Amino acid sequence: MPQTGPAVLFTEAVIRKRVRELGRRISKDYAAVDELVLVGILRGCYIFLADLSRCLTIPRRIDFMAVSSYGQKTTPGALRLIMDTRTDITGKHILIVEDIVDTGRTMHFLQETLSARKPASLKSCVFLRKPDRLEKEVHIDYLGFDIPDLWVVGYGLDYADRYRALPYIGILETGDV
Ligand code: 5GP
Repeated sequence: MPQTGPAVLFTEAVIRKRVRELGRRISKDYAAVDELVLVGILRGCYIFLADLSRCLTIPRRIDFMAVSSYGQKTTPGALRLIMDTRTDITGKHILIVEDIVDTGRTMHFLQETLSARKPASLKSCVFLRKPDRLEKEVHIDYLGFDIPDLWVVGYGLDYADRYRALPYIGILETGDV
């Protein structure tokens, strides 16, 4: 059989259903709030954020941040902000929207960075999490799915900038690289 692309982990239909459920829960939980600011973490979040934000029935604003690791030669594993929000988040209700939590280091860094700015509330919505890989205790308020320790692509997630537009979540195997 010829290689047809990464093996399917979650189909488009399964993803759509789960994102709608998350949207319903978030809309209910924030029903009494004037405005929710969704802070998407680039670049992997862009499709999830687009779908999730369109499932919400509450007033919301979209903003973005980007984080990068310092090279291994400096402080291994240290993170830095390479793009900050345009909104001043102090006093606002903030929901971090992230594609995947792997070791948890990025989410931990974001939660520390954003909570220092004194938002009215700070929660997180993560599409995928790899529980076996977690190194940092991070609290996730809304989670799409837990997955095994595999490299996944599609639905915004890449491998060397490929596969982001794949409509499903696939498992990258050696033959796909
Ligand atoms: P963490 O800081 O939790 O270890 O890693 C978070 C980042 O690693 C994610 O935002 C994502 O960019 C990347 N990452 C971790 N696992 C995967 C994966 O299976 N597939 C893809 N495409 N990116 C991943």
